[in-house]
Amino acid sequence: MFSEAPVRDEVIEELAGLLQNSENIVVLTGAGMSTESGIPDFRSDSGLWQDDELMQAMSLNYLRYFPERFWPKFKHVFLRPEYLQAQPNSGHLALAKLEGMGKRIQVFTQNVDGLHGVAGNTQVFELHGNLGKAKCPVCHTPYVLDHILATDVPRCTWENQKGALCGHVLDPDTVLFGQDVRHYGRAQLAIAKADLMLVLGTSLTVDPVAELPHFAIEQTRVQLVIVNLEPTYCDKWARLVIRGKVAEVVSQAVTHIVRVRKGVWSDPSSARRPAQNAQ
Ligand SMILES: [Zn+2]
Repeated sequence: MFSEAPVRDEVIEELAGLLQNSENIVVLTGAGMSTESGIPDFRSDSGLWQDDELMQAMSLNYLRYFPERFWPKFKHVFLRPEYLQAQPNSGHLALAKLEGMGKRIQVFTQNVDGLHGVAGNTQVFELHGNLGKAKCPVCHTPYVLDHILATDVPRCTWENQKGALCGHVLDPDTVLFGQDVRHYGRAQLAIAKADLMLVLGTSLTVDPVAELPHFAIEQTRVQLVIVNLEPTYCDKWARLVIRGKVAEVVSQAVTHIVRVRKGVWSDPSSARRPAQNAQ
């Protein structure tokens, strides 16, 4: 269905040139960002999201009516070993390295794995929440993964001054069916002010996030780059479309920028030249 051929050097260099020439970059990431970290795409996975009963249980209504039944199902879907053991891949690390070069990188992600933050990006906005966090819906006390994993149904352990236990079943931080995505307005504003929008590893099929690249398309000075294995409806408006694995493409482009900065190549946007002082 899609090509597994390696992305050509000229294409990587074009991406590197666009990144190099941009100071304010908005990144939108989806499941394809984390594929190389061993995390499956639920939507294209033959398993979980094909189970209608399980899908219905991942809703705010189900959580409110059946909190004690909700949590074991939620853990089955989201707190799986491949999620809990996942580490940032070369693509996550490359985005963090770009920020380390002094560029403003704002990452808006549909992923709930938290890997952009682990990689070191400091401006990460998790549109669908984070699977490693939970909060009490009554007293709003936040909880971390260890507490969530400690019992089948995690509850609030906060006590008031008289020693009365709150004890309410927690809400996961992950956005459930029936809840709005987060940071959407912030994403619109960030895109309007950006030089470049990178869309990585998402096929742009789920609204409203799928509409975000339109804000870049409407702003003529915002260049749009799409890296995804499959076509998206925005491809025809993009400055550059790359069919490839996100981790490979992004890490190769950032490696190219590092080489250029070291003087191995003098200009990333020009034709590739032989190294003068290869190190
Ligand atoms: Zn509480």
